[in-house]
Amino acid sequence: MTRNYDHFIDGGWSAPAGGAYFESTNPATLAVLYSAARGSKADVDRAVAAARAAFENPLWRDLSQTKRGHLLRRLGDLVGENAEELARMETEDNGKLLREMRGQLATLPEYFYYYAGLADKVQGSQIPTTNPAILNYTQREPLGVVGAITPWNSPLTLTTSKLAPALAAGNTIVIKPSEYTSRTVLRLAELAAEAGFPDGVVNVVTGLGAEAGAALVDHPGIAKISFTGSTATGSAIAASAASRFIGTTLELGGKSPNIVFEDANVANAAMGVVAGIFAAAGQTCIAGSRVFAHRSVYDELLERVAQRAGSIVIGDPLQDSTELGPLAFAAQQEKVDSYVELGVSEGATVLTGGGRPKIGLPGYFYAPTVLTDVDNSMRVVREEIFGPVAAIMPFDTEEEVLQLANDTQYGLAAGVWTQNLARAHRMSRRLEAGTVWVNTYRAMSPMSPRQGFKSSGVGIEHGMESMHEYTRLKSVWINTDEGPVADPFVMRS
Ligand code: NAD
Repeated sequence: MTRNYDHFIDGGWSAPAGGAYFESTNPATLAVLYSAARGSKADVDRAVAAARAAFENPLWRDLSQTKRGHLLRRLGDLVGENAEELARMETEDNGKLLREMRGQLATLPEYFYYYAGLADKVQGSQIPTTNPAILNYTQREPLGVVGAITPWNSPLTLTTSKLAPALAAGNTIVIKPSEYTSRTVLRLAELAAEAGFPDGVVNVVTGLGAEAGAALVDHPGIAKISFTGSTATGSAIAASAASRFIGTTLELGGKSPNIVFEDANVANAAMGVVAGIFAAAGQTCIAGSRVFAHRSVYDELLERVAQRAGSIVIGDPLQDSTELGPLAFAAQQEKVDSYVELGVSEGATVLTGGGRPKIGLPGYFYAPTVLTDVDNSMRVVREEIFGPVAAIMPFDTEEEVLQLANDTQYGLAAGVWTQNLARAHRMSRRLEAGTVWVNTYRAMSPMSPRQGFKSSGVGIEHGMESMHEYTRLKSVWINTDEGPVADPFVMRS
């Protein structure tokens, strides 16, 4: 008998109004793990009402910023103490390697500590005026109830990237996690209650995107939507938010270039290409799915990448020796497979991989795949596949590869492999991507702001800048001159 998880609303478990639950399965074994409440508009209404009441409750509203920081620090401690349990849950839910999830959980407390440290640095400033009797200052206020909608590929990290700055700035939150990975986000809400956050500050409504997700986006009580997921969903959310003039932070899809120059350390670059597209089975927004190699090192890079791709250990993500786990659910596997077939029909050659490997597990596995004979006109090069599929292309000049790399609707990340310092800076300046890595890939930290350019997003996550995304700026004017008003028809400053 598997567990039925209810929503987490107002500090405790809350059964779904409609009484319905949906199952979550392990993508490696296809075993049913648990069921989660299928949220409806009524559940979202309840959660938003609890979050609004908590926002106005002096227990939270009047809590000092220093004490808000203490609560975040305590939550970080609890996440650290429960890291092994949380890492295992994530691996069982989405098939990512336990090794990788342990790594993510090892650094996750740092996200809470970073925003704990920033909580008492949310402040305005005094503005100079032309009239010495007038005092003008700004203050940064929380927005109210934040709606957070997150994907399945790194559920806790991507939820924390919203939760921690939103709480540090004094907001309350309703989170709708992905229907494929509800459990760890519910556990996080439980830990937030244990840390001492007042009831209603952190709420989780589980369910499907078109139901619970849409109800949250459209709810009039939400002051801001913070979303991580696909560009198509992000676009619909942006339209709904715009109609009500509420702000959004949108972290969306990518088709990131990973560029290897003739002066690169090709052995390291090949490992960077492998890390960029085969780590997490390519199911990362920052996947380096378009690889450009200078023609003089193209054959060598191809050979090294194909050799490593061919020797990747595919299997049970709970095993330490495994390097590639399953895709997260059946539709993901079908999508990746159909893209590879499409690539072949467009003229691509499958150098390695290209199919479902036979490994004795029933899950949604897909072999690491390298496509050659591809170019920017093909859909496999233009569209996000979100799987372990690299398209590798040769180039001749720096200017040419800049044009090719920037010729995409996306602008999330880019990799550059070169030993030439001047070139590294030139490329970083001209690449249209919110994050550029030189001689590394997938580096990330709560301290470093990241933003998707073009169709990859709106707004900033991580860093001080992200906390400001969860505040509004008020300008206060105070006249210290108590004398008579000389002329009511002339504005004073
Ligand atoms: P998705 O857009 O299908 O779903 C994301 C979330 O939105 C889920 O919780 C889903 O239930 C919800 N949702 C779906 N339809 C909705 C609707 N109409 N209204 C409200 N909510 C709705 O994306 P996914 O498949 O879960 O995640 C993969 C995508 O996320 C990829 O495109 C990937 O690039 C992107 N991603 C981006 C980042 C980033 O930081 N830029 C990080 C991770 C993933």
